[in-house]
Amino acid sequence: MNLKKYRVEDKLKLSAFKTNETGKGSEAEALERSAARQPKLAAWQERLYAEGKQSLLIVLQARDAGGKDGTVKHVLHGLNPQGVVVTSFKVPTAQELSHDFLWRVHAAAPAAGMIAVFNRSHYEDVLVTRVHGLIDQPEAEARYEQIRAFEALLMGRHTRILKLYLHVSKDEQKERLQARLDDPQKRWKFNPGDLKERELWDDYTRAYQDAISATSSKDAPWYVIPADHKWLRDDLIGQLLLETLDDMNPKFPEPSFDPAAVQIR
Ligand code: AMP
Ligand code: MG
Repeated sequence: MNLKKYRVEDKLKLSAFKTNETGKGSEAEALERSAARQPKLAAWQERLYAEGKQSLLIVLQARDAGGKDGTVKHVLHGLNPQGVVVTSFKVPTAQELSHDFLWRVHAAAPAAGMIAVFNRSHYEDVLVTRVHGLIDQPEAEARYEQIRAFEALLMGRHTRILKLYLHVSKDEQKERLQARLDDPQKRWKFNPGDLKERELWDDYTRAYQDAISATSSKDAPWYVIPADHKWLRDDLIGQLLLETLDDMNPKFPEPSFDPAAVQIR
């Protein structure tokens, strides 16, 4: 599949992107592709870690029940946990609020050799805050600029940045929230507060469109991933990850000694 069509190049209009795409083949084929990809991802990750120079940052954003946790579980499960750090950003604590909004985010940026996954991210600071009127439009614009500068700083340190918006429909969200309510094993994930956010669906759409349009660039692109079907979501993100690591092309380091001259007694 050509992933270019999911990339945000101009001003984003979410309605131009489908949520329920099924791709070309069947679900079984997509699952097979995802499974076959796991060892390849793991092999690249090992090189990235061994090289210890570059790093990868994956930003996951979505509405509630949009599939962020599922993406972490299904796309990254074959990687070596030693080389991956997942950070889930919650409502900022009092201490975090006493700093600038990027303070806690910068601390979670990937060290050389590492893959960092942001389950929610600094983008919450221009989304939920904007929708609830905690910041106004000029402040949002100022933050976009600060985000662009922050991401440029990371890229200057050889961090590749992938930003993914998991695109689900309002109906799909309803089904998933209902399933959380009905299934005792999923109920712990149900947050009655999510229903209030759901009522603000259109405000979030505007906030996402605005923020993504302002921060998608050639070097730090946003992708809108059709996410109603989890199997397609995982297949597309896996492919994107593999293509990105392939392009980064990390290499095992050359030894600083002559291995032939070493004798282990
Ligand atoms: P969950 O991802 O379901 O665990 O929920 C985390 C909650 O934290 C969501 O309601 C987010 O909107 C909220 N949150 C995360 N980051 C921020 C932030 N920077 N400012 C305000 N709320 C946030
Ligand atoms: Mg939640």
